[in-house]
Amino acid sequence: MTTSSFPTIKKDLDAMKVKPNLDYDKVRGNFDWQEMYDELDWLPGGGLNKAHEAIDRHANGRNRDKLAMIWEGKNGEKETYTFGEMKVHTDKFANVIKSLGIETGDRVFIYMERLPELYFAFFGALKAGAVVGPLFSAFGPDPVRDRLQDSGAKVLVTQPDLRRKITGIIPELFELQHIIVVNKNNRDPQPINTADLSYEEEMAKAPASFDIVNTSQYDYSIMHYTSGTTGKPKGAVHRHQAVVQQYATGKWALDLHEDDIYWCTADPGWVTGTSYGMLAPWTNGVTQLIYEGGFRASKWYELIQEYKITVWYTAPTAIRMLMRAGDEVPRRYDMSSLRFMASVGEPLNPEAVVWGNEIFDMPFHDNWWQTETGAIMCANYACQDVKPGSMGRPLPGVELGIVDENFDPVPVGKDGILVVRPGWPSMFHGYWGNAPMYNSRFRKGWYITGDSARIDEDGFYWFVGRTDDVINTAGHLVGPFEVESALIEHPAVAEAGVIGKPDPIAMEVVKAFVSLKDGYEESTELRQELMRFSRSKLSAAVAPREIEFVASLPKTRSGKIMRRLLKARELGLPEGDTSGLEEE
Ligand code: ATP
Ligand code: MG
Repeated sequence: MTTSSFPTIKKDLDAMKVKPNLDYDKVRGNFDWQEMYDELDWLPGGGLNKAHEAIDRHANGRNRDKLAMIWEGKNGEKETYTFGEMKVHTDKFANVIKSLGIETGDRVFIYMERLPELYFAFFGALKAGAVVGPLFSAFGPDPVRDRLQDSGAKVLVTQPDLRRKITGIIPELFELQHIIVVNKNNRDPQPINTADLSYEEEMAKAPASFDIVNTSQYDYSIMHYTSGTTGKPKGAVHRHQAVVQQYATGKWALDLHEDDIYWCTADPGWVTGTSYGMLAPWTNGVTQLIYEGGFRASKWYELIQEYKITVWYTAPTAIRMLMRAGDEVPRRYDMSSLRFMASVGEPLNPEAVVWGNEIFDMPFHDNWWQTETGAIMCANYACQDVKPGSMGRPLPGVELGIVDENFDPVPVGKDGILVVRPGWPSMFHGYWGNAPMYNSRFRKGWYITGDSARIDEDGFYWFVGRTDDVINTAGHLVGPFEVESALIEHPAVAEAGVIGKPDPIAMEVVKAFVSLKDGYEESTELRQELMRFSRSKLSAAVAPREIEFVASLPKTRSGKIMRRLLKARELGLPEGDTSGLEEE
């Protein structure tokens, strides 16, 4: 199967109010990254720093008084910051960090909820030359300890409740020198630990201007631990140079224009929340909404209505939850400001793309990338028709390949390993402290993504599965995504996770775990109906042989279905590293 059963969603470029930034066919053929490097501002000393490109270049120019951040707190508080104001806050924080003796390359970690101060600390630390590592605020003490120990962080920026949550692990962090506690709007009445520094006091003392350290494009800037979907999370390290691709993809893959009001729903604890919740919009000089609260369907639609969001970047799990909440909910709100919607993080089921098109009058544009790639690599662009279920075409300047185990190219339409030609600007530059693992990802001139995919006759890429998740049943290779997507087309199914279960005859059989939408009850009849339904959508060899109903599927905290855990539990095997697992 190279295309899904859903028809292509056609675009009428002439009818578009905003003309897409990218003419793919024109740019793709003869593109040179130098063109994009030339669009950056660069530091006065000739170096490159992400904070300068995202904030100072605008604060020093005509965007000085333009809103960079619209913040809504979880208790309904509202604050706004212009690029000029962002410069002052981040300069101050850079001075705070410098006064603590932090040098270029030292690690500064941030463990906070989505408060404006998280963003000030992030860019302030980059200005001071530090390598910044944001951690997801819902982590408990163990994942925080593992990441702070592994990275050897010297400074931790956090908030009172999270600081208390990790008190027990502090004595185990031998390299940690300072803890800075942000008490946003005096939300927390308890005095802070006397050994800690108060963010508010330090900022009040700090000078309001700072000369950004003249970091080179090759200096490290950000560290992100991967989601832990397939195993122990790895600390991928990125360089300042990555900013050129974050800028370019903001413009091309998210189609950001000057007047957009943009909302990325990802948390900065994951790479999407920094590459696209900070760098892409702000390097493009775009205003963005940052919402501290969590997921609630009606609230999310209300935010789009209230802030007149034009470009929205979210994830398949969230889209499936919106679908689950029902079509009547978005119809109660004015969604007419939206003009472009995109998704990343997991395969986006064709059903979800089509649903978007029905409800919002435009499809979700799926795009593919990883923590390691630092930025979008393959996308459905504003200028192109969308084939529901496809992750689109490679970014100009990026070479993707589909190869077999010998790294030979496989023909169009056949499944293979998805690889990338090294040298794209936002490529990671190491797994922290793990050179053997880093080196193992490069073979025969390719970077191995760990995913399998296929390409169709029009050059569109189709995700098949994680290489480890591909199922071998009676000689057929089956990608779990294809089976999951077929199942969720059934009106009763909210989510599905599919694994290969060892079988003495077929090698593996396809087993599906299914959670139902509200109002549906599990029953033998429904199970049989789902079996029949999937057989009608897929071939008999590919359709699940077993279906088990579950209340919910195990997910990483970044919202991905953890198939390895479904499999370990099914087989009664050890669960492995579950530090990235969402609490069940
Ligand atoms: P770990 O590497 O620790 O197992 P992870 O791979 O989930 O975790 P991330 O870097 O957050 O960590 O996720 C990247 C992966 O997510 C990709 O390799 C791919 O498997 C999946 N993914 C991301 N976007 C898409 C997409 N649009 N379609 C299909 N899969 C996607
Ligand atoms: Mg991965």
